[in-house]
Amino acid sequence: MQYNTLFGPVPSRRLGISLGIDLVPMKTCTLNCIYCECGESTHLTLERREYVPFATVKQELSIYFENNPPPDYITFSGSGEPTLNSRIGDVLHFIKNHIHDIPVALLTNGTLFSQKQVREDIKAATVIIPSLDAATEKVFRKINRPSPHLKVDTIIQGLIQLRKEYRGKIWLEIFIVPGMNDTEQELTALKQAIDKIKPDQVQINTLDRPGPVPTLRAATRQELEHVIDFWEMENAAIVADAPEHKALFPYRKDTASAILGTIARRPCTLTDLSEILGLPTDEVKKYIDSLHTDKKIKIVKQKRGLFYQL
Ligand code: SF4
Repeated sequence: MQYNTLFGPVPSRRLGISLGIDLVPMKTCTLNCIYCECGESTHLTLERREYVPFATVKQELSIYFENNPPPDYITFSGSGEPTLNSRIGDVLHFIKNHIHDIPVALLTNGTLFSQKQVREDIKAATVIIPSLDAATEKVFRKINRPSPHLKVDTIIQGLIQLRKEYRGKIWLEIFIVPGMNDTEQELTALKQAIDKIKPDQVQINTLDRPGPVPTLRAATRQELEHVIDFWEMENAAIVADAPEHKALFPYRKDTASAILGTIARRPCTLTDLSEILGLPTDEVKKYIDSLHTDKKIKIVKQKRGLFYQL
C-alpha cells in the first residue's frame, strides 16, 4: 500500500518506533530554515487550511492499523508545519477515539501557538516538541527565514501561553547553528525565553543530514556541551543518537515505496534506511542500487556518509 500521508515507522531518537503523519504538502511551512533537511523550495505561508483531507488521513490510519503492528508513537511531523493543517484537531481526536493506547507526539516549529485555536486543536497530544532557534529578531530571521508577518517575540509569547494551558509534556528543541545562535548574546536571550516558557525538557540538536545551504556545518560535541554549560539548566540535554532497535522486524512489505516515501521527507544513509525499514543493509542496498539506476534517487556525500535523496 502506498500511503500519501503516513510514513515510516521510523526509529526516532526520542520516541522509539514512530509512525509519521505528514499533514501538509512538501515544504508548506511558516518558516524556511537554513538547515531544513526537506530542501530549499518552499510554500511559505501562515494560512491554515485542510491541506491534506481529514478523510484521507482517517482512511490511511485505519488501513495501516488493520495490517501492521502498533508503533511506540504516532507523530505529526514530515516535510512542513503540521499545525498549518486546520483539521489537525480532528485527526488527534480520531486517533484518541479509534486507535487506543498509542501516545501522540507533535513535532512543530512552534510559530502558531499565539493563536488560541491552534492551542485548542493540539491539546490532546501526549507530547509537544516545538523548536525555538533564536530569541532575537535578527538571528531568527537569519536562521529561520520566516514568513514576513511572524515576529519572534509573538512566538515566544505563544509558547508561554501554551505552557500555561497544555497539560502534556513540552520538550523544547533548540537547533544550534555554529556562529549564529551560539554567541553569548543569543544564548543569554534564549535562556531568558526558556525560563519564561518553562518546558519540561530542553533538547539541543544540530545538523546531521544535508540541508539547502551547503556551507553550513554541524556543531561539534564540544560546542553543544558549551551551550549546556552556559545555560546551567538541569533539564537541558544534547539529543542522543538514535537508539538501537530492540526487535527489528520487516515493518513494510512494499520496500521500494517505503524507501522513496522516507527519503522524500529527509535524506537518509544506508544505515538510517536499514533501521527505518527493519532490513539488513545489504538487502536495502539492492533496492537503493536499482532506484539509483532508474534515476529515481540521487546520492549526496556528507561528513556522516552517503545520503540518498530524491
Ligand atoms: S526545518 Fe521544519 S520549520 Fe524549518 S523550514 Fe523545514 S519544515 Fe519548516
